[in-house]
Amino acid sequence: MEHKKKSVYLDNNATTPADPRVIEKMLPYFHETSANPSSIHGAGRRARDAVEEAREKLSRLVHCRTDETYFTSGGTESDNMGIKGAAFAQSERTKIITSAIEHHAVLTTCDYMKKHGYEIVKAPVDEYGIVDLNFLSRAVDDKTLLVSIMHANNEVGTIEPLKDIGEIAHRHGAIFHSDAVQTVGKIPIDMDALQVDMLSLSGHKFYGPKGVGALVVRRGTRFDPLHHGGHHERNKRAGTENVPGIVGLGAACEISMTEMNTEEKSIRELRDSLWIGINKEIGEVQLNGHPENRLAGTLNISVKYIEGESMLLNLDMHGIYASSGSACTSGSLEASHVLLAMGVPHDLAHGSLRFSMGRFNTKRDIDHVIEVFPGIVKKLRAISPLCKN
Ligand SMILES: *Cc1c(COP(=O)(O)O)cnc(C)c1O
Repeated sequence: MEHKKKSVYLDNNATTPADPRVIEKMLPYFHETSANPSSIHGAGRRARDAVEEAREKLSRLVHCRTDETYFTSGGTESDNMGIKGAAFAQSERTKIITSAIEHHAVLTTCDYMKKHGYEIVKAPVDEYGIVDLNFLSRAVDDKTLLVSIMHANNEVGTIEPLKDIGEIAHRHGAIFHSDAVQTVGKIPIDMDALQVDMLSLSGHKFYGPKGVGALVVRRGTRFDPLHHGGHHERNKRAGTENVPGIVGLGAACEISMTEMNTEEKSIRELRDSLWIGINKEIGEVQLNGHPENRLAGTLNISVKYIEGESMLLNLDMHGIYASSGSACTSGSLEASHVLLAMGVPHDLAHGSLRFSMGRFNTKRDIDHVIEVFPGIVKKLRAISPLCKN
């Protein structure tokens, strides 16, 4: 049976398990207090209060005003709403600048905008995944309506210099949007200091529920709604609020506020001990991403001579759940666009593996990986046609 074998979940950048404390806070809002927050009776008012309380918690976490937050169905919707909403609210400017390493929620949205006549410019990154600021300075002009650059990359964890990017965008009156789905709840965020006008976040990336997130839009930043209907979210996002989800998101924000600092340290220790262990046991591995300036829980490596998918499947057989950069698209394996943009050669990009640690991982999890993983690599290298050893 599945649960007889101990499993080790190291795919926290894909999604995190909801914190039991979050679930407990959500439960009453499925039944006892399940009224519609738009209803004016007592039950409706209680649901409304719960939504507004969550809004306050979220605002405290990212340092914005409550009337700057819009609850959505998650990171993907927030990215769409920020990019399309900013574009459709005006007609003067036609250029959107993003980076080569964005999440598909941003990249595919930009592709779509291109079909509708917008000019899309993708800024390159250096070998660590840091966006080229000189390129940005030259690219942003008076035609630029939006600069959209992520806060931290989901594959390699590199953290981008948002403040510098915001300054460049604002020099020409462009709006600065950032997909902060990987950083909210994990590192401190101050929207003023970071010079961000629009920020996307998602509950399930920091121990909240799936299917709920938010777009934060600073006062004075114009954007059109994507959903039309009722007056929800101050006419910017129609549809009855996901009350349990929003309550869960608020609870996740509150927990992160108090535990973020200590948690970051312990997760970083786990990550570093995993890297040290792997490095000691396995030759010809490289670290992908910035050596220091990256998310505490992210370890992306390339193992020479073997494929990420083979490692994943073998780890899976041992109950270890990780991720590989490449995605199986229409039968052909495509290497990660992030690693390729960083200049990682094709073979190493195909041999990449991401371990992402989180709140519920322990030292024992890491020890288990260090015990099992070298044997897997040895076995795969022995049958690899690329391996000369
Ligand atoms: C997960 C993720 C998203 C998508 O968020 P969803 O809530 O799953 O739609 C967007 N951007 C980044 C960087 C992510 O890691």
